[in-house]
Amino acid sequence: MPQIELSQVSYNYPVRDGVSLKAVKNLSFSVERGEFVALVGMNGSGKSTLAKLLNGLFVPTSGTVKIDGLDTSDEANTFEIRKRVGMVFQNPDNQNVATIVEDDVAFGPENLGIERQRIIERVRSALEAVGMSDYAKHSAAKLSGGQKQRVAIAGVLAMQPEIIILDEATAMLDPVGRREVMDVVRKLNEQGITVINITHNMDEAARASRVIALRRGRLAIDGAPEDVFASDLLDACGLTLPPSVSLANELSRRGFDKMNVIDEDGLVEEICKQLR
Ligand code: ADP
Repeated sequence: MPQIELSQVSYNYPVRDGVSLKAVKNLSFSVERGEFVALVGMNGSGKSTLAKLLNGLFVPTSGTVKIDGLDTSDEANTFEIRKRVGMVFQNPDNQNVATIVEDDVAFGPENLGIERQRIIERVRSALEAVGMSDYAKHSAAKLSGGQKQRVAIAGVLAMQPEIIILDEATAMLDPVGRREVMDVVRKLNEQGITVINITHNMDEAARASRVIALRRGRLAIDGAPEDVFASDLLDACGLTLPPSVSLANELSRRGFDKMNVIDEDGLVEEICKQLR
């Protein structure tokens, strides 16, 4: 059984000014446990709406979303689904609910009604997983953007999710913060947590195991990064290639052999190999 299963999913926002907006149209795909999916597409293509459909915040207007076989439209499953699917949002300042880091991380498990001693253990191990143990007693407000997002991830981890959805979680961070967060997310994925990373950053998309591109609420491209980067539909989806891939393509046009690269490391390796 796939961990995430969408079948013919559509979602209409409620009618406004006489029009009902179909934000997601007829989406069908599934995700297996442990995948690292980058979800890309231009603004308004339906990514955030899809994220909210995945954690049961929205239920489909038609079609079904199942998490571990649990149908999100059945209210009896809501609690279980929220526990399994953690979300991290764009603005770090909107996510810290308590002033002290460890209280912030404890907030989720407290809401799940978990007993005190187990919460303490979970908070400790969640902060350790994101490399923020030294900051447990610090004020959340004084952290850098990357640190705040790592604390937000720890808050999600303390609920012991099986899936983490990041909705543009690195968009407001500087390159250092972005790297910190992506390193943590990659490590969690290696430990078996499924990751859905909604991003505009194509270098981040290149590092996913699978890229799904939405266009006007529909699934436009779905494949390994190298296949997606070679797709004719990239332009239509409003996506640009990662710099290393477009440089590789340009070099091929100027006489180098065709290069199959997705990142800087691959590019450097290819150039060295071909020059030798
Ligand atoms: P993305 O995350 O890819 O930018 P969204 O899922 O936010 O896309 O939006 C998809 C479509 O739904 C857009 O056309 C957007 O204007 C519309 N939309 C998003 N949120 C709402 C809302 N609360 N009410 C009505 N329409 C919305």
